[in-house]
Amino acid sequence: MTPRNNRKAIVAGAGFAGLSAAISLAHAGFEVTILEKHDQTGGRARVWRHKGFSFDMGPSWYWMPEVIEQFFQRFGRSIHDYISLQRLNPSYQVIFDKEEVIKIPAGYKDLKAVFEAIEKGSSTQLDNFIQQAAFKYEAAMKTYISKPGIHVKEYLNREVLSSLFRMDMFGAFSTHARKYFHSKKLLRIIEFPVLFLGEAPEHIPAMYSLMNYADIIKGTWYPRGGMHELCKAMTALAEESGVTLRLNTEVKAFNVKENLISGVVTDKEELHADVIVAAMDYRHTDQELLPQGCSNYSSRYWDKRQMAPSCLLYFVGVKRKLPGLIHHNLFFEHDFAPHAASIYKNKTWPEEPLFYICCPSKTDDTVAPQGMENLFFLIPTAPGLQDTPEIREYFYEKVIAATEAFCKTSFRQDIIVQRSYACSDFVQDYNAFKGNAYGLANTLRQTAILKPSIRHKKIRNLFYTGQLTVPGPGVPPAIISGQVVAGHITKTYKHAQHEVAF
Ligand SMILES: Cc1cc2nc3c(=O)[nH]c(=O)nc-3n(C[C@H](O)[C@H](O)[C@H](O)COP(=O)(O)OP(=O)(O)OC[C@H]3O[C@@H](n4cnc5c(N)ncnc54)[C@H](O)[C@@H]3O)c2cc1C
Repeated sequence: MTPRNNRKAIVAGAGFAGLSAAISLAHAGFEVTILEKHDQTGGRARVWRHKGFSFDMGPSWYWMPEVIEQFFQRFGRSIHDYISLQRLNPSYQVIFDKEEVIKIPAGYKDLKAVFEAIEKGSSTQLDNFIQQAAFKYEAAMKTYISKPGIHVKEYLNREVLSSLFRMDMFGAFSTHARKYFHSKKLLRIIEFPVLFLGEAPEHIPAMYSLMNYADIIKGTWYPRGGMHELCKAMTALAEESGVTLRLNTEVKAFNVKENLISGVVTDKEELHADVIVAAMDYRHTDQELLPQGCSNYSSRYWDKRQMAPSCLLYFVGVKRKLPGLIHHNLFFEHDFAPHAASIYKNKTWPEEPLFYICCPSKTDDTVAPQGMENLFFLIPTAPGLQDTPEIREYFYEKVIAATEAFCKTSFRQDIIVQRSYACSDFVQDYNAFKGNAYGLANTLRQTAILKPSIRHKKIRNLFYTGQLTVPGPGVPPAIISGQVVAGHITKTYKHAQHEVAF
């Protein structure tokens, strides 16, 4: 650990990005305090425990495992000392209808056989598709993902420019996928990872086939005990790194004097530090916590941002085991296009929703009482929708009925825990703009330097991190985001012995 530099840093928000920034800054010599409004860390990856069930409230798997391994290694630790990780096999199953279920095996050879059985010649096409996706993944990891996205000149080098066209930034994902596959089912499987990126596959850059590489080759990972175990591991690392954690502490305002944050006003007291990292939803800090006239962006700017989806979630505990389900289940019984249009175009509730069930009790006996099932239902929805008790009830009926039909058993009478969570909860709990679950949509116009900046244009000691900044949403990207902002701060303060230099 670098010796202390006599500078204090406050990180507001203890999601993955805030924890990552805090740990990185502590190791760079800052005296770091995290302020978090909830009674636990993890942000969108909090856990809800009830009647012996342990429900992850947000992410239920992660891809890009090397990001997490390398994060811990960077600080002389191994993630395996903190959590027990498992690569799931099958990775997930896709339910096209009750009788037609495709399990996606973890092994590439097995997956090729699955593809070939659906469409002749598609296993060779998968090789070609994955080869391209591998290039994009490696190039993105090497040249793009860790850039602070402040100056265009970060991208004006031979390495970036030469990969630009091979990265397929300007083509559409859907067109790209159709060059390789024709079967509707294979296209659904290939297009599924972009479902959460905030636009229909026709408007998502083909570059994002790198997510298929992450899915198919790098695998779907799950920590025993649930995703929240990863938050606990990062929290333990933060504490070992000397970070002070102040839970149940909500930031209410920032005071600004002479282009510096002079005080962080919480619901308890006013605190002071040399550096402030806002790791909360960006717009909340920008529009609700800074004094008038001090925002980094106008309200018009925010209104024009395209947000990624929100979600309608149900946490359901069932007092018996359910046949047919595995750990991850994608219910794709209906066409994706109308559901996508409801999210991205019409901004309405879907007529026939596609949905996802995580049933971690299938592989992990710690998340539900013995002989019981832990179910997490997720319907992606447009951000900013009004959710009412009636709407929640309506979709609950729909997903329970579809699951009962699939499992070929009625289980509603065996449900002993039920809680819904929707757009208004995201606003209430995380101050999420329009109740977004996944930050900003990953469109070309909201990529790299076109994302909200990690530094404030005028307030010299205010920086931002999290899923609305570079590189974007997802657990590994949020962790990278924290490292990127900490790197930028460390560099900035190193150059300025006593004053912040800009
Ligand atoms: C339902 C759901 C499912 C998902 N599934 C996956 C998945 O399977 N895999 C994956 O990789 N990603 C998934 N994601 C995305 C991933 O969870 C997020 O991208 C990531 O967790 C965002 O981290 P963050 O630190 O940027 O933000 P957050 O987690 O939102 O952290 C921000 C923190 O700031 C705190 N805060 C806000 N306002 C204040 C205030 N005024 N004062 C103090 N504290 C404040 C909040 O309480 C919160 O703890 C999912 C997200 C959701 C919602």
